[in-house]
Formats: sequence, C-alpha cells, structure tokens
Amino acid sequence: MKYCKACLTTDLRPNSSFKDGVCIACEYSEQVKTQDSAFQVKLELLKQAIKRSRGKQANKQAYDCIVGVSGGKDSTRQAHWVRDRLGLRPLLVCCAYPPKQMTQVGADNLSNLISMGFDLITVTPAPTTSQQLALTSFKEFGNVCKSTEMSLFSTVPRIAIELGVNTIFWGENPALQMGDSAVEGFDEFDGNNLRNLNTLVDGGYKWLERAISEPYKSEHYFYPEQILFEKKHINIFYLGPAWDDWSNEDNATYASLNGLTLRPGDENDTGDISNASMLDEEFTNINMMIKYFKFGFGRTTDIVNEQIRNHELTREQAIKIVKQYDGVCSDRIIKRFADYVGISVSQFWDITNTYVNSDIFHIKKGARPIPKFQVGIDYVS
Ligand SMILES: [Zn+2]
Repeated sequence: MKYCKACLTTDLRPNSSFKDGVCIACEYSEQVKTQDSAFQVKLELLKQAIKRSRGKQANKQAYDCIVGVSGGKDSTRQAHWVRDRLGLRPLLVCCAYPPKQMTQVGADNLSNLISMGFDLITVTPAPTTSQQLALTSFKEFGNVCKSTEMSLFSTVPRIAIELGVNTIFWGENPALQMGDSAVEGFDEFDGNNLRNLNTLVDGGYKWLERAISEPYKSEHYFYPEQILFEKKHINIFYLGPAWDDWSNEDNATYASLNGLTLRPGDENDTGDISNASMLDEEFTNINMMIKYFKFGFGRTTDIVNEQIRNHELTREQAIKIVKQYDGVCSDRIIKRFADYVGISVSQFWDITNTYVNSDIFHIKKGARPIPKFQVGIDYVS
C-alpha cells in the first residue's frame, strides 16, 4: 500500500491515479491555487455552459433546472447558490430514506430546506425492498449503502427526464475532490460521466432483481440509459469548481447558519470528525468503517486530505487525527443496522470480515480487525 506524498490517499483507492507519487486530487488543487483568481472566470464559463445546455428550453418551463438534495449540509448551500448566484429557478429533488433508516436530524433538515421557499419533489423507495437490498448489497459487495446510493444518483436524472427539465446540478466533482478518475468529464463542470461512478457500475443491475421479492421495484435503482439523456438533452453540472469557498467546513458553517442541525460531539460514535456529513442517516458510517477495512483509509482521511490541500493541517497533524478516528463506528450503530436487516451482530462481523483486506489488517473472528500498517507510511505485506 502506497501513500500520496502530499496527502494521505492510498493507491488502494478504486480508480486512483498517481503522478510522481502525488494523487490527482492534490495535483488539481495545486493547479487551482496557481490560477488563484480564476473562480470569477470559472463562474462565467459555468454560466455559458448552462446557457448552451438549456438552449431552446430556456424560459419555456416553470423550472430552469433540478438540484439533487438530501437532508445534508451541502444541499442548503447548493439550492441557495443556484437560485441567488446563478439566478435560476430550481426544482429540488430528493430521494429520501425509508422511515426506519432516516434520522430525526435528516427529517428536520429537509423540513428546513422546504421552509426556505423551494419546491421539492421527494421520492421514497419501498421500505421492504430497501431493507432486502441493504442486506444483499452488504453480503455481496461489503457495502451497506450500495442500493441507497444507486437510488440517490438515479432518481434525480430520472425525474429530470420525465419532467423534461434538462439541466441538473450536483455539488462536488468526485474526479477532482476524491480522485475518482472514472467519472472525469469533458471539463471540470461536466458531470455526464457520473454514470461511471464505481458504486453505480460495480456488479451491474441483475443482483437487484434477484434480491427482492417484487423484481419490478428494482427499476427505481437503475441509472437512466445514455440514450435517454441524449434524447432529452440532459446535462449534469458540478457546481464545486466554480465556487471559491466550497469545502466541507464552509458548507457546514453556511448551512448551520441557515437552520441546519448538526451532530456535535458524536465523533466517537460515528467516526465523523466534521459532525456534519451523513446527517440524514447513520448506516453510511458503517460503510465508512468497511471502506477503511478494504482500502486502509476511511472518511477521516478524506476530510483531512481536503484540509491538507487547503494548508489548514500539515500531513503530520493529519496522521494523528486519522489514527484516532479512521474506521470508528460504534457498536450501537452496528446493532441498529443488524436489527434493520434482520441479522445478529456476530453475523454482521462474519460478513464484514470476508471483505477486510488481510494484507493490511489482522482478522479475528467476531471482532474488529486490527491494522498492520502505520498511517502515512508505505506498507509492504
Ligand atoms: Zn494526494
């Protein structure tokens, strides 16, 4: 396992790409810094791209565009930004979690978003189907949220295609922020390759139909085909690159000033040092833990990497934080998930252990794996 020389990303990250020992996210962030005042220019470029995308549709419809939202921190900001900075009339589309999965914080935050005066379409998949898929995706992919993510990403374009609103906004560009090169587009705003996201392509769609008792309900999880995008001239844009203060921390601050509820003091329970991500449901915290067992890094690494690139933390300071919080997810959350999908906690660990990378972790039956590696130091097993 090799680390990026500048941050703490490892080469075990899916679709990672390194140049001279430095990951693409670090390389991109340096390019942006040298351009400095480029954000104004980028905002103009984004506006032009949107104008081209909307083409003849402009002003013909009630809504100019669709913004995909959740009960999380980025949504509040995106909705406001699209309305106030881009001067558009957004329709918000949310794929909500089933009641047993959604947290009270998430429900409150969605209500808060609506109370700010936006129109919102909420789509909620059938609860039993969701449960069955969560268990199967955990067993088959070691990912408790795969089906949830598929429905989140698929719902927004599906509604866009049905309503004929052809411009869609997402927040961050995963290629640039997370180093996932499979979704890289024509330029930094281009989100039309979102369909290549690992979680959407890995394993195909057949498993969904097999996993549920009413196969027709699997349709909800399918990402619309390219041909449908082309017929309706659908374009997806990332807002992040044209946004001078887009970061997890800025978004959380902005959103909480606008009524968003955070989860302060919960980092020993959730492993989330920002207390601001995954507000709307808790099972993603399990995924973050499993990701750590698979690839040797988790969410804490992603958060500190951003801070390293912004020169808010040194690599040394970041290592200490990662040692303390990466891979943390409490027994309480694990028990709640096990109950949700109908398995015991020991079954949970048995399934999880089949996904742990034994090159970099010691695996013990019925217990949490223990890392063999030291954070920030290349490891050869
Ligand atoms: Zn890096």
